[in-house]
Amino acid sequence: MQYEQTAELPEYEDEEKQQETVKTTKGEVRKGNYSGLHSSGFKDFVLKAELMHAIQDCGFEHPSEVQQEALPQAILGTDIICQAKSGMGKTAVFVLALLQQLPTPAEPCTVLVLGHTRELAYQIKNEFERFCRYVKGTKADVFYGGIPISGDIKRITDAPTPIIVGTPGRILALAKKQKLAVGNIKYFVMDECDKMLEAVDMRADVQAIFKLTPREKQVMMFSATMNKEIRSVCRKFVQNQVEIFIDDDTKLTLHGLQQYYVRLAEAEKNRKLVELLDALQFNQVVIFVRSVPRANELNKILIEAGFPSTAIHSGLSQEERYYFEPE
Ligand code: ADP
Repeated sequence: MQYEQTAELPEYEDEEKQQETVKTTKGEVRKGNYSGLHSSGFKDFVLKAELMHAIQDCGFEHPSEVQQEALPQAILGTDIICQAKSGMGKTAVFVLALLQQLPTPAEPCTVLVLGHTRELAYQIKNEFERFCRYVKGTKADVFYGGIPISGDIKRITDAPTPIIVGTPGRILALAKKQKLAVGNIKYFVMDECDKMLEAVDMRADVQAIFKLTPREKQVMMFSATMNKEIRSVCRKFVQNQVEIFIDDDTKLTLHGLQQYYVRLAEAEKNRKLVELLDALQFNQVVIFVRSVPRANELNKILIEAGFPSTAIHSGLSQEERYYFEPE
């Protein structure tokens, strides 16, 4: 069976009752951008002053649709399953909800956030740092594979943090070595949970970590995509959850963002791109391409055209990907 392994998950009673609390926004007609419904502001969430200050610094004016729907529930400590497309602001939902709930100072290893890739884990840690700026005594650290575990162990020993972000394999390794006190976890978040639960090895790691954490905790699961099967796998991790599914295409648009496209033959692309870069005013531009050779080739063309450019791709080491200088 495809989801055989879920049988190993802790089973909670009254699954029937859980279904009754299901809430879905699917199909509702709402205004689709960051001005959100009724244009209510972040102040309606009655967040800590330190968080409001950081929100202002980030330039967030209005909560997005998913933030409107999920944040009030998340702040109350409710278990959540939330699906909304990429870029809708799901990260801020759990980051703000956790920072709002955490006491200051908080105990080491109170929050665990799992992501399926190192880049995602690193991004989440950065998002915590953005919003933690004014919150005293609350710090986040990130742990992922591909680098020696000894450095992680030293950081946990020297400066343990209340918020732990990481990829499942490394977090499980640290927990098994009894370096991470996962028995203290009060908040358990899975970002891009479908990606973690679809990959059999990773799902086994997630389940193993989950079982090491106390039963009483808030569980929040987020994803851009979630098919029916994954939804039912997700439900094994939560209790009395609220479920939020926002999958209306019109809600993807970010406030203040304009999108353009040009239909071109393959051979015309490079010239058009250079023309556009010459004509447009910008501080920074990110260009996504399909393959590593294409990234390298385009990078060369841009450098030859006089643009300070650099290529980032899977052929680079982890460190090179984080810290790069334009060539
Ligand atoms: P998701 O997790 O849904 O893919 P992110 O949390 O990565 O989306 O958010 C996408 C971008 O939008 C980020 O740069 C984030 O800082 C920004 N963002 C999130 N919420 C808001 C908001 N309410 N107003 C403006 N920008 C926002």
